[in-house]
Amino acid sequence: MRQSGNYLLIAMPNVARAGAYRAALTATSLETVLVRDGDEARGQIARRGAPAVLILDLSLPKVDGFELLRELRQQASAGETGAIVVSGHAAIRAAARRLAEPLGISRVLPVDVDRIALREAIDATLNELSSARTASVLPPPVATETAVSSVTGSIEDLIDNAVMAAARRFRTAITVAYVKVGQQEYNRGYFVLSETDGSVSAAHSIAFLRQVAAGSDPLIVPNVTNYPALKEIAPVGMPQVRGFAATPLPAHPDLTGALCVMDTKPLQIDASELDALEALGRELHRAIGGHESRTAVPDPSTNAADAAVDIDSLERLASADPLTGLANRRGGEKDIAAEISRARRQNSPLSAVLLDIDHFKEVNDTFGHQAGDYVLREISALLRRTVRAYDILVRWGGEEFLVVLPGVEHEPALKLAERIRHAIENMPLAGIGGITASVGVAALGGDYSFEAMFAVADRRLYSAKAAGRNTVA
Ligand code: GH3
Ligand code: MG
Ligand code: MG
Repeated sequence: MRQSGNYLLIAMPNVARAGAYRAALTATSLETVLVRDGDEARGQIARRGAPAVLILDLSLPKVDGFELLRELRQQASAGETGAIVVSGHAAIRAAARRLAEPLGISRVLPVDVDRIALREAIDATLNELSSARTASVLPPPVATETAVSSVTGSIEDLIDNAVMAAARRFRTAITVAYVKVGQQEYNRGYFVLSETDGSVSAAHSIAFLRQVAAGSDPLIVPNVTNYPALKEIAPVGMPQVRGFAATPLPAHPDLTGALCVMDTKPLQIDASELDALEALGRELHRAIGGHESRTAVPDPSTNAADAAVDIDSLERLASADPLTGLANRRGGEKDIAAEISRARRQNSPLSAVLLDIDHFKEVNDTFGHQAGDYVLREISALLRRTVRAYDILVRWGGEEFLVVLPGVEHEPALKLAERIRHAIENMPLAGIGGITASVGVAALGGDYSFEAMFAVADRRLYSAKAAGRNTVA
């Protein structure tokens, strides 16, 4: 057996919180080492031996916390290495309590435990090393107190936007969101499953998402095989799912929810990507109308980290078009730049479809501006239904829309454009009659220049107008 190291290991994906934990522990004479995922924790333990105390967030990328503990216990007993585990989810804490004995867990704490309680837990755990150990459990975090502001835009649209943003970013097979506003529940999902994957039942995912929504922290299980807390977190099971990461929306009395990416294979996302998922959850919360939540129990996260997320959310809010819920030009440009660098890196194709409504001014003039707004919303909804989650959909200007299609060559992009044109022509619009649109399509060139591609799409749109409108060029 390896000698236990004289250090304290904090394994936690949230850097700000890990830093706060470390700050709370300055009194101990032990060196503190921070790691962000299960692989890094394994590496430290392999290099330095088992720590004196492991403070472990059970929601850990790459190797989940339970698995890490199982491995640790093969080289260090509970008398040699103390283990304090934290989780933002009551169900996971319940599982940890059930497994406290076999895994040698000395304390099970909520993630937002205050400094004093944390220090007490460490002191007690250090004292218990190589002596009799008794598990103790803190009460769950105190509920939060805030108010809901008015809702702008359809909630389904806002949820769909978040689902699509997550699907685009993580490219997993399943992206689902659950939101509860007052007594009303919404469950939206985006699935990229092949026939052989079978279907993922909404009933399964909603039971799980309700659990996640009740928690206070992102939850990641890189691989559900042998994961011991599955029956607590997903009582009805999750067929097809091999790995998942989920984030609860910030706690709020009238607005709760969860955003989750799942895959039919083990999930490869790292700690910073888990941060990104959490930021998307916060952003959805804010978009729907949740104000800044403030927990009654002091949160050890630093203000600096909160401020970073705030700026992120504000930027994203400024990136959304309030009428249609689509990205506006500013928001779209960021996503497009990211997709173009991906195309360059992977040497993959990308196309752009630029669409302009025909004689839209006449709609406004004849039926009024509100009718014009209604048409814009209907066309946005149609586009959203038509494109894939990874596609970037932007309200480029007044009645101009841009769709960027990663991985798509010119020819299939033309086909999609034609499908959109046809669908718009046949779209039922209450009291307005028919609407048509003209479309220009271009593929990304070897220079990987968005501007050059856009200029071609714009020129072709102009040709489509000149050719009599209701045309793809
Ligand atoms: P064309 O077929 O050549 O594209 O003709 P058009 O009338 O569509 O083109 P034009 O650019 O002359 O008019 C666009 C109109 O779109 C003018 C503007 O009032 C209207 N518009 C832009 N944004 C909005 C909006 O948010 N709501 C409404 N209702 N109308 C808008
Ligand atoms: Mg126009
Ligand atoms: Mg127009």
